[in-house]
Amino acid sequence: MEFKPYILCSPAEDGPRMPAAVARVRSPLRCLRLAGEAGVRAVFVSFHGATLGERETLLDLCRHLKPGADGSGLLVVALLPEPHRDLLEWLREMRVDRVCFATVHAFAKLAARAKVDAFPWEALGGGPPRDVLHSVCPYLGHQATPGGHELPLCGAYANRMVIGGDRLRDYCCCPHHVRCEFYRQPHPPGDVV
Ligand code: SF4
Repeated sequence: MEFKPYILCSPAEDGPRMPAAVARVRSPLRCLRLAGEAGVRAVFVSFHGATLGERETLLDLCRHLKPGADGSGLLVVALLPEPHRDLLEWLREMRVDRVCFATVHAFAKLAARAKVDAFPWEALGGGPPRDVLHSVCPYLGHQATPGGHELPLCGAYANRMVIGGDRLRDYCCCPHHVRCEFYRQPHPPGDVV
């Protein structure tokens, strides 16, 4: 098989055809095997569409990709559907190098411009988990659903408000959260019916 310097592990989501430089795999185990080959430059782990159980497996994959106190020299990037404070914290602890909110489609477009020894990181956005975590609203929380996924909730509204769409993108997930009316004036639990 032709050598590919980049690996995308995307177990829960179908997506577009990947450019020649990218090996796309669904199995985290196969991803780990490929990542051990000489010359692999980066592994992208997509959490899009993952259930809570699949997320655990992907976190395990990240842990194995970055073993030891200093992590490995391999670059590991997590593709997330949206900011999630706990997940960002776990990815930081596992020494994942970058997180970004690119879809697999957006990733495929960028990967088409990748060279064997250079990937257009800037266009992916995001950054190290710690930096991204700092920009996310501290009130953003999540609650598990019976279907094995999660809903984003606002802690400044006693976790009674599901957040989505424009508010999630334009406020909760970025430094603009300080302008949000709920952030500026949190509602104590007793005020929310
Ligand atoms: S709705 Fe406002 S207070 Fe609530 S999590 Fe989003 S930015 Fe924070």
